[in-house]
Amino acid sequence: MSRKPIVAVVGRPNVGKSTFFNRIAGKRISIVEDTPGVTRDRIYADCEWLTHQFTLIDTGGIEPSSSDVILSQMRDQAQIAIDTADVIVFLCDGKNSYTTADEEIAQMLRVSKKPVVLVLNKIDQYKKPDHFYDYYSLGLGEPVMISSVNAMGLGDLLDDIVKLFPNEDDMTEAEESIKICLIGKPNVGKSSLVNKIIGENRVIVSEIAGTTRDAIDTPFEYDGQPFVLIDTAGLRRKSRVNENIEKYSIIRTLTAIERSDVCFILIDAEEGITDQDKKVAGYAHDAGKASIFVVNKWDLLQKDNTTFNEFKRTIREQFAYMPYAPVMFVSALTGQRVMQLLEQAIYVSNNHALRISTGVLNDVLNEAMALNQPPSDKGKRLKIYYATQASVKPPTFVLFVNDKELAHFSYIRYLENQIRKNFNYEGTPILFSVKERG
Ligand code: GDP
Ligand code: GDP
Repeated sequence: MSRKPIVAVVGRPNVGKSTFFNRIAGKRISIVEDTPGVTRDRIYADCEWLTHQFTLIDTGGIEPSSSDVILSQMRDQAQIAIDTADVIVFLCDGKNSYTTADEEIAQMLRVSKKPVVLVLNKIDQYKKPDHFYDYYSLGLGEPVMISSVNAMGLGDLLDDIVKLFPNEDDMTEAEESIKICLIGKPNVGKSSLVNKIIGENRVIVSEIAGTTRDAIDTPFEYDGQPFVLIDTAGLRRKSRVNENIEKYSIIRTLTAIERSDVCFILIDAEEGITDQDKKVAGYAHDAGKASIFVVNKWDLLQKDNTTFNEFKRTIREQFAYMPYAPVMFVSALTGQRVMQLLEQAIYVSNNHALRISTGVLNDVLNEAMALNQPPSDKGKRLKIYYATQASVKPPTFVLFVNDKELAHFSYIRYLENQIRKNFNYEGTPILFSVKERG
């Protein structure tokens, strides 16, 4: 399986990052959007250009008040981009020559050796400004001129960007390894759990294993199964980037999720479930990854024989959109059930990749429709001609119907439940794509 390339946009405040982002961003369809507590900041978007799909990240942060804040913030942005992106778009204000802050960022980007496209925005007319040639001194090659407001030059720019994507082979990560990321709010125990897992298992020392990126992902083996722990960039090396800017930790989380198969969503047993936990879980769900709720610090709770079920029930209530994710109670401190977590990861990862035949699928759906008739509206009833599983990771089903409008969410949800009853999709979201066939 190959992951999508990540493109990060970096630039000073007001150069037009948001405008650019909104021009390029496609629309992401998500069930979670209706879920209270899961509002998404406009930080990332799934995009498509020609045959290429990629994730676009806007690293622009909070409104800085003074120029030294701008500079430190720009360093953080650039560091995030360097840590996570495959291609960096460095956006400058083409109305003027570059500034000291631009110079500094250019220097960081150059040293990183990441592919960078230098872009002069706000060139609203097709005319090279006099200061165009100044930008060559940034040492990032020929600047590309665009106008985000007038949508000029964007196609050529996208052509340049996709040319810089890593080739398919580099993007295809070792198939047999299960890639796991640990996500959750600060202090929930991510580093502790990573260290516990790595400490107890054979770490595979190999240049080739794992990934081609420079993040410090750790390949290891448990019970004959190779795994890779995806580093949430800077989890174990204490990061240089300002941890207090929530946006940056979100970007880290998102890119780690993007690169993984299975997400361990950590929850603090003592603190209980917070809004931040819901956001994090929503990202994993939206990305279509297999997930496991990992309630950590279980050692800290005074338990009686109802504690376990009570906690589980609260999780089901609070994360109603993820009824498929198993719940595990662990302690990174004592190691309790930590290895069982890896067994669960193997299990949900297999389910994430489960493919069922069209024949068997249609038998199940026909039975489901006989049991509970499809909805009708103004005398017209939904007809599902047939269904097929189009892909895995996550399992995605295409339903061919007479009229899309009639395929209400609640009925699709019913079909999903019937599929789940008949096949083992525990741990993975299931997606549906409804298509009309006359
Ligand atoms: P950000 O702070 O980098 O995200 O910048 P914004 O996207 O918020 O844009 C800052 C200002 O520049 C806004 O007033 C935009 O309308 C304007 N702007 C953005 N792109 C262009 C452009 O291509 N041409 C012109 N003339 N103005 C632009
Ligand atoms: P991170 O910020 O999510 O990486 O969290 P850390 O791994 O740094 O853990 C934060 C704090 O929680 C540290 O003081 C850990 O020792 C503590 N901690 C982590 N896991 C457990 C656990 O299972 N039980 C207890 N009692 N403390 C834990």
